[in-house]
Formats: sequence, C-alpha cells, structure tokens
Amino acid sequence: MREIVKLRCTKCKKTWYTTTKNKRLHPERIEHKKYCPRDRVHTIFKETR
Ligand SMILES: [Zn+2]
Repeated sequence: MREIVKLRCTKCKKTWYTTTKNKRLHPERIEHKKYCPRDRVHTIFKETR
C-alpha cells in the first residue's frame, strides 16, 4: 500500500523530489527538509498530490 507522493519546495513552489509513503499509516501530509537546487539552500518540502 505504498504510494508515490511528490515533494514541493515551499519557497519556489517547484516539485523536485518524489518519495513513497504508506497512506494508511501516515494519512497526514508529510514535510521534509531537503536541498533545493533552485534556491541552493535546504528548504521545507511539503507533500502535494
Ligand atoms: Zn525551492
């Protein structure tokens, strides 16, 4: 039951990463701090669908 979700940078609003998660275990939207190639810093990435 793992589904692919997209991770969008909250700063430049672009999708740079995808990840998988179990929506049954984690129905909430996930947040990750990742490196954004455009902003050249680590930013908060939020799940989009
Ligand atoms: Zn960005």
